[in-house]
Amino acid sequence: MAKRSLLLSFLAPFFSQSFALLSHDLIDVVFHALAPEADSSINSIDHITEVADQINAAAASISNSSAPTPEQRASISCAIESLVFPESVTTASSSQYEVDVTINWSETCWLPAACFVHPQNTIEVAVALKVITAAKSKFAVRGGGHNPNPGYSSVDDVGVLIDLQLMKSLSFESDGTIMRAGPGNRWLTMYEFSEAHGRLVKGGRTATVGIPGYLLGAGMPYFPGLHGMAADSITNYEVVLADSRIINANANENSELFLSLKGGGLNFGIVTRFDIQTYPVIHAQYAVNVYDAADYHNIFEATKEVQRRMESDNKVDTFLAISPSTISIGMLYADTPAKPPTVFEPFLQLESQVDTLIPLTNGTVLSLAEALIEVMPTSNARRIATTTSTKVDSGLYERQHERFLQIVQDNQINAGLSYNIQPVPSSMIREGNTRGGNSCGLSEIPQTWWSFVVEWDDEADDVTAQQTSNSFREVLETTAEEQDLLLRYRFMNHASFMQTVLDSYGPENVERFRSVSATYDPEGVFQELQNDGFLLRKL
Ligand SMILES: Cc1cc2nc3c(=O)[nH]c(=O)nc-3n(C[C@H](O)[C@H](O)[C@H](O)COP(=O)(O)OP(=O)(O)OC[C@H]3O[C@@H](n4cnc5c(N)ncnc54)[C@H](O)[C@@H]3O)c2cc1C
Repeated sequence: MAKRSLLLSFLAPFFSQSFALLSHDLIDVVFHALAPEADSSINSIDHITEVADQINAAAASISNSSAPTPEQRASISCAIESLVFPESVTTASSSQYEVDVTINWSETCWLPAACFVHPQNTIEVAVALKVITAAKSKFAVRGGGHNPNPGYSSVDDVGVLIDLQLMKSLSFESDGTIMRAGPGNRWLTMYEFSEAHGRLVKGGRTATVGIPGYLLGAGMPYFPGLHGMAADSITNYEVVLADSRIINANANENSELFLSLKGGGLNFGIVTRFDIQTYPVIHAQYAVNVYDAADYHNIFEATKEVQRRMESDNKVDTFLAISPSTISIGMLYADTPAKPPTVFEPFLQLESQVDTLIPLTNGTVLSLAEALIEVMPTSNARRIATTTSTKVDSGLYERQHERFLQIVQDNQINAGLSYNIQPVPSSMIREGNTRGGNSCGLSEIPQTWWSFVVEWDDEADDVTAQQTSNSFREVLETTAEEQDLLLRYRFMNHASFMQTVLDSYGPENVERFRSVSATYDPEGVFQELQNDGFLLRKL
């Protein structure tokens, strides 16, 4: 109680100076931090004094200006976050700051946020967001930081970055099949934990990726033909809404929000726990072979044939990772037959194999994910990805590869250029639908998802590199459209900030998103205060 009075006396001048800017909600927030049940607490009177001084300085500067700047709002948010979470906020003066700035996968996202807040649990997320909305400050949310679009899971000094990495809780519900995961987890830990319990969780192929951004974009998992997209196995989301209420969204409670979160991204709230249906561990057979890209005609003919065969065998999973000189082909099978399954014969009969990235192995999703991490490059770079989806057509693949080689030849900036062809069986969409469906608006046909990645070093080349990624996509979309091969869907997880995503889910889903946003976020916090993202406000 003494702490409360002391705190109020420090905060009083601040509230009198800038009452119009900040609401009394803030008092609740700070009181909450002092409440006995809260995990965080303010222990040091010196700290209160120091932070209250900062708040007063920020409030004074705001009251002197008729319209506070975004930087002023962010700085006042950070001062209050520091007061509420003395151990969990990083500002430019702390030694941890540089580490926090440089976590994202792409250097284009290494932005100097006004501060980084590291909540440890759901209540702290709710409190951190309350401070932000009270100050009307810009903010961004970061899970694993693998989205390469600048300003999506990063923000510069106009905003606060809520970093969820400390929220790594993992458990199974008492039935032993539903896994509960905090948003600070990455896929490797998810596979380790689930397999230790004899279960398979559907998740990312590159196991260093964070779970929240991946799942909110619906997620392309291993063996998509078996259980649909990763989000199709989610049974419940715990969500912090714009007004800091904490709710559950599932098939029975807040069901429209539940459906919207299955692919709708960061438009509706901050997800603080994912409850995921798991499956018995799969004993799988896998290999990744490397072929000479000069043989692209035969390789793409083989790809078309494997895609045809996948339609009658939902245990098949494959991908092509294409560089100017090599094409690496993943051959993954959700079983361990004595001989490689016949579905992969078209690839195995190619005469252009030049290397083996992962030899034929019987293992599990965990061992496969570990093997892929081993062969993935890990260096830092500036990066961008872009995406589109088409029908299956080897002629289209060939023409696009020839355009790709032309783009590589014209490349003025010494950028690394590569693309992926992801065959998607119709069983993935069907399996998703049998689990209640998602918001992606996918057609139940065999299809191909494309992603094109540019990597470069020099900030001066940002615009050229980003335009290069755009031109790869535009050329593909134009050709595919001319031949009636273009599909509407754009996969959020591989999309660039130069694309819109939500409109590619179709009008019915967009209408639901708008209605859910109006219901759960009537003030438009996630549209207006959130820094950037695949937001409804962009449609
Ligand atoms: C090397 C690599 C491999 C990949 N492999 C795959 C793959 O196999 N399959 C696939 O589907 N995708 C894949 N991706 C794409 C990846 O799924 C997306 O980049 C995804 O956004 C990453 O999730 P994250 O949590 O790491 O991202 P972040 O960058 O932290 O977040 C992405 C977006 O989600 C928002 N967000 C994060 N956490 C929350 C939350 N708790 N609540 C609300 N919003 C939140 C962020 O604000 C941001 O807009 C890969 C990406 C890379 C770089």
